[in-house]
Amino acid sequence: MLIPQSISTQKINYPLWENRNIEVWIKRLDQIHPLASGNKFFKLKYNLEEAISENHDTILTFGGAYSNHIYATAAAAKSLGLHSIGIIRGEETLPLNPTLASAKENGMVIHYVAREAYRKKTEPEFLFSLKEKFGNFYHIPEGGTNAEAIQGTSEILEEKDAEFTHITCSIGTGGTFTGLANSIEEHQTLLGFSSLKGDFIHTEIKDLLKSQQVNPKGKYQILDQFHFGGYGKVTADLIDFIKWFYKEFEIALEPIYTGKMIYGLFELIKNETIENDSKILIIHTGGLQGLAGFNHRFGTSLPL
Ligand SMILES: *Cc1c(COP(=O)(O)O)cnc(C)c1O
Repeated sequence: MLIPQSISTQKINYPLWENRNIEVWIKRLDQIHPLASGNKFFKLKYNLEEAISENHDTILTFGGAYSNHIYATAAAAKSLGLHSIGIIRGEETLPLNPTLASAKENGMVIHYVAREAYRKKTEPEFLFSLKEKFGNFYHIPEGGTNAEAIQGTSEILEEKDAEFTHITCSIGTGGTFTGLANSIEEHQTLLGFSSLKGDFIHTEIKDLLKSQQVNPKGKYQILDQFHFGGYGKVTADLIDFIKWFYKEFEIALEPIYTGKMIYGLFELIKNETIENDSKILIIHTGGLQGLAGFNHRFGTSLPL
């Protein structure tokens, strides 16, 4: 109901790799919803099922003011007739940015928490105080990554995707990467491009794989050099790439996750880290809802 039966996968034709017998395809999770991140619906799927089976009528989750997860949670909860509460880091700024305006339109109750308090978001006492305030709720952590989320993202790859040699995705909290790692075949390599700065991500993913008991059948690798200054940071080079990509292929990307990943992938093809005769599947996770706010904040004109 939230996730359609079939998700289109299309080929990207480009001279750069044709004579090397490299094929690049893209799986359009961005088409699950025109604006919300497609991977977020996979992450929410089993959480919402669980909430309903436990007779909850309210979902509570956490995020920043531009969060794709907040946007998607509000939309998904509404479509199932559930209430949603978004605990947002920082202070309210009016008018609401497009992310929060849409969440509110979808019925989400928005509650702002100062940055210091927000850091306690996983502590039981803090969650208990929220229950005293809002009544009982089903809690989904910031970014939406938990065991149910990984059960969902393990379903992104379909049987027919076994023909690919490489799968690529971007990494935020790693829930999407971990689900993909759970479903790759022995002959496949999963490449995860971190949108955050720092090599902590290697340990974080290792811990996540371990705690979720995911033992990938294939190989996996995390690339941490395509962060462009850090989470939410961009360079002129990246912005130009996203505009060029849209002109060339008519596929919109956003600069926080998918733009960085595909920029990185093109580099790996160019410098021949990716060998000839590869057949690559890019997971387009969506996130285009953030573009309006991004253009507004940074004075860019990224195409939607
Ligand atoms: C949230 C998000 C990601 C990162 O997903 P994680 O499971 O947190 O790693 C990637 N791409 C887009 C568009 C997202 O919104």
